[in-house]
Amino acid sequence: MAPTTQEPVISDNKNTNAAITPNKPSPPPPAASKCNPCLSGNKTSIRGVVGQLLTTVNPDKPLISLGVGDAASFPCFRKWKDFAPSLVTAVSSGTFDCYPPSYGFPFARRAVAEYLSKGVEHGIREDHVFLMGGGTQGIHVCLTVLASPGSNILLPRPGFPPYEAACELVGIEPRYYDLAPRRGWELDLSQIRSLANADTVGLVIINPNNPCGAVYSSAHLQQIAETARELSIPVIADEIYGHMVFAGSRFVPMASFAHVAPVITIGALSKRWMLPGWRLGWLALCDPSGILNRVKEATEMLMNVTSGPASPIQAAVPSILSDSHEEFHNNVVAELEASLDALYTSVEQIQALQCYSRPQGSMFMMVEINTTLLRGIQNDMDFAVELMKEESVLVIPGTVIGLKNWIRLFFGVPADLLREACNRIESFCSRRQIT
Ligand SMILES: *Cc1c(COP(=O)(O)O)cnc(C)c1O
Repeated sequence: MAPTTQEPVISDNKNTNAAITPNKPSPPPPAASKCNPCLSGNKTSIRGVVGQLLTTVNPDKPLISLGVGDAASFPCFRKWKDFAPSLVTAVSSGTFDCYPPSYGFPFARRAVAEYLSKGVEHGIREDHVFLMGGGTQGIHVCLTVLASPGSNILLPRPGFPPYEAACELVGIEPRYYDLAPRRGWELDLSQIRSLANADTVGLVIINPNNPCGAVYSSAHLQQIAETARELSIPVIADEIYGHMVFAGSRFVPMASFAHVAPVITIGALSKRWMLPGWRLGWLALCDPSGILNRVKEATEMLMNVTSGPASPIQAAVPSILSDSHEEFHNNVVAELEASLDALYTSVEQIQALQCYSRPQGSMFMMVEINTTLLRGIQNDMDFAVELMKEESVLVIPGTVIGLKNWIRLFFGVPADLLREACNRIESFCSRRQIT
């Protein structure tokens, strides 16, 4: 019978029997498949909160995001024309279609070792460098390797949420130490000592710092190393913003203090070279006394059963890390500093916002909100939501990174656009100002 438009078609196919014999019990719905409990529930993440905030954007104003830190989305920060040829050559040579060695090609590991060894007394050995699919894999590999039963690790607060996520996955207890806003966001070493115990497996520092923009002095890094030595733990130095420092500051690699306490350095091409999509990073052990020998073996075992960055990307590493891109790096830092100047000047003029120390590096600044001065704003989340609703400016509420009633501002944005964002923040705050 030809189907008509009036009636639904019932074919005599066996699969539709349930529909024609309603008395037959239908099978129970399949049970939901099981999954890792660490990956369920409503965890707050930067990207999650950003997704939520984006739903409240003011349709009449173009969005300006001071949220997720991806400066590579702006042409003024990019130099792909200089980095691309080495990758194109690698791909067209046809010699990088095979699997790379588990820890990375020796020539690429050597290039990273040489890059990290500049100005570092003991230097970093090529066989102590492991290539990673971005800094994030470096974080995961490092914490997986260090996770012994019952262990804990010291993390900065405010911080970078992927550390906490990785801790949960591998079963390390995160213990937070506070960065002090009125002391240039330095570590309180007596608090570090009181948080640590015999099960502490490491002290994570981020320098130059995301989210605070601090750059630690050589003297402070020395104190950090001495504290780690007392506690018999390595320092895990996230130096993803290494060398991205402004006039008057100097970046000193933590590895310079490896003779005091061993250092595990995490880095990547994502920020300084503005190539986050290339997914290339590294984990380097700087360990002149051999304290990390077992950590090295465990890292090798892990990398043998997982996979690192793509071969052609590795092939491009020596050229990317070479000294020939100084001008690019200087330009990026100059652009960032111009944007920071605009932001800092503007924040200083807003009564309800307070930045205790001007960032000296990275691409982030933390600002405290005085909620008692702003009508209808109880906390940092309110601030972010209302600002988005009225001005379409996206900022990260501090709660997501461990600091209530603060916000994180990303300034890896062209200065003109940042000035526009500042004007909008200023008018938002003045409309809300309680006098
Ligand atoms: C961006 C970032 C990383 C990791 O970056 P990838 O994109 O995975 O290379 C690690 N640590 C900090 C502090 C960062 O800001």
